[in-house]
Amino acid sequence: MKRKSESKTYVIDLTKIDGDGSFPCPKCGVIISPDDETEEVYVIVDTKVKGEQLEELVIRCNKCGSKIRLTGFLLSTQKA
Ligand SMILES: [Zn+2]
Repeated sequence: MKRKSESKTYVIDLTKIDGDGSFPCPKCGVIISPDDETEEVYVIVDTKVKGEQLEELVIRCNKCGSKIRLTGFLLSTQKA
């Protein structure tokens, strides 16, 4: 019986993001960059890997506590 104040998970599709892959947090608007590994803005809470490729990443925004699921890694790394 855990009580969570914030259980909503947002989903960001990286294939729909232009530029370097950074995006604003859907809730608080802080800019999140997947290349940022300082854990100042967000922390990685879960990763899903398919074969050797990253399939999904679940992060938590340090500012507002929202969970954000990042999808689209496979497509973004595929070259036609
Ligand atoms: Zn946020």
